[in-house]
Amino acid sequence: MAVADSVITSPMGPPACEKDAKALEFIEEMTKNCDAVQENVLSEILSQNAETEYLQQWNLNYATDRETFKSKVPVIGYEDLQPYILRIANGDRSPILSSHPISEFLTSSGTSAGERKLMPTIAAEMDRRQKLYSLLMPVMNLYVPGLDKGKGLYFYFIKAEAKTPSGLVARPVLTSYYKSQQFKTRPYDPYNVYTSPNETILCVDSFQSMYSQMLCGLIYREEVLRCGAVFASGLVRAIKFLQLNWQQLALDLETGNLSSKITDQSIRECISNILKPSPELAQFIREECCEGNWEGIITRIWPNTKYLDVIVTGAMAQYIPILDFYSGNLPKTCTMYASSECYFGLNLTPMVNPSEVVYTIMPNMGYFEFIPHDPSNPVTLSRDSPPRLLDLAELEVGKEYELVISTYSGLCRYRVGDILQVKSFYNSAPQFKFIRRKNVLLSIDADKTDETELQTAVENASELLKEFNTTVVEYTSYADMKTIPGHYVIFWELLIKDPTNGPTNDVLDQCCLAMEESLNSVYRQSRVADNSIGPLEIRIVKNGTFEELMDYAISRGASINQYKVPRCVSFTPIMELLNSRVVSEHFSPTAPHWTAERRF
Ligand code: AMP
Repeated sequence: MAVADSVITSPMGPPACEKDAKALEFIEEMTKNCDAVQENVLSEILSQNAETEYLQQWNLNYATDRETFKSKVPVIGYEDLQPYILRIANGDRSPILSSHPISEFLTSSGTSAGERKLMPTIAAEMDRRQKLYSLLMPVMNLYVPGLDKGKGLYFYFIKAEAKTPSGLVARPVLTSYYKSQQFKTRPYDPYNVYTSPNETILCVDSFQSMYSQMLCGLIYREEVLRCGAVFASGLVRAIKFLQLNWQQLALDLETGNLSSKITDQSIRECISNILKPSPELAQFIREECCEGNWEGIITRIWPNTKYLDVIVTGAMAQYIPILDFYSGNLPKTCTMYASSECYFGLNLTPMVNPSEVVYTIMPNMGYFEFIPHDPSNPVTLSRDSPPRLLDLAELEVGKEYELVISTYSGLCRYRVGDILQVKSFYNSAPQFKFIRRKNVLLSIDADKTDETELQTAVENASELLKEFNTTVVEYTSYADMKTIPGHYVIFWELLIKDPTNGPTNDVLDQCCLAMEESLNSVYRQSRVADNSIGPLEIRIVKNGTFEELMDYAISRGASINQYKVPRCVSFTPIMELLNSRVVSEHFSPTAPHWTAERRF
């Protein structure tokens, strides 16, 4: 029954169906009772995990109230947790962090010592994540009617898994979700029908997965009402894939035979039920793609697309111009804010402009605290007298905060590293703008490279210059999104002591590779397995360029005493200055080393 005919309504708008009405009611309940729900969540977490080694050491004596918790349990980062995590990975099954058995490790795109961080999780968390997913379409249906009349073209991927020495699986949270029964055997929901069959999503080979998902997207092109990927980088990559593979895709559509490049049997079987010879469709694809004009390609091929469902907040904002170009400025909806540690919340007004996106943290997902973030007045987190962190209900509009979480899986007062700003409230729940992830210098896809990692990579690469009596005097970097996939560009100013014996082009190419080999495993996986980052580039600039850079900064008001070379640049005049001084460009000749296996 359509709810328009029934008595059920929601303050957020008229729900599309009864199921949506229940979901919207849940959001109302959570956001109206934010503080009480938080108090209850903390109490549940603390009583569930009261016997764990981690909590026992803080002498809570089974207290489950906020004040005792805040006064006794320290605020921590990954390095503090690592010894516990390694024991779990190595087979210690005693209740270390959680009283429930650890079902698997979720591998974050945040890294520690070059490897993905491992986040222990428990089976019940999957249901909590599923609950948050179930709220997304009911909100979207408030703004875009008729989504039950067609399909969603979503490019979703799984990644390779690793096993800990004790046999626990370690994989990204989305791989875990797509492989779960909750996803694979989800009940039919007319508002959530995908063009991609499960088999195409569940193939770890990124080429075969993308190819078969794109093929299905083309077959169902007229039914597609929304296009998406998790992050904007994924959708941009899909369009690039179409640019490179449209001829083969068109051939498959023409003949009804799937390319022999697709060897995965379950994909072949499921596609054989969908793919029928269609010379008209093949002809259409050829006409649209053959001239290499990619402007508006999304709306040309999928003319009924109402919006792009991709996250374009945070580091992903850099993809907005290219998505606008591909889609003729279709709305871009950022529906959700989540991480491997915990899923946080959703966007209750998904059709707003990316710059206005705010996420409402759902207070049932975990216990959330906030460190006021004011770079000019940083908070000192001493173990002896920890500062009182703020609760969701205590935040103020306009202020920035760093997010700290406690979860049912056993993370206690863990600093995620995200900086958020409160923009407004929905009922009593604050709504946050995502400001940035702390310490991230460069990011193209899921990779997050910080200043220390970049510094180490430069140092390692410059070892190759020693025999040429050459050193790197200064460097800076930027994420170049003009190429697809994007790539890291590092500007180097060199001091070549003997110009008759300077480094050759070949050596400088090898320096690019040496830098890549030094970068973290998420970067290398994106280069090798996902092809979502292009070869790293070093641009050698003329001597004196970095001095000019300093002069420029000083002319704009920087203090000469405090001036530091920015290790990442994005301001156009600075980029122009650097690019106008380039004397040579070098690229990594091959992909760096990466395997799914990892150290524990
Ligand atoms: P991961 O640990 O790999 O799952 O990455 C989670 C991180 O991705 C979060 O802590 C954020 O820094 C970032 N992230 C997740 N969702 C969003 C979003 N909607 N907007 C901006 N950044 C996000």
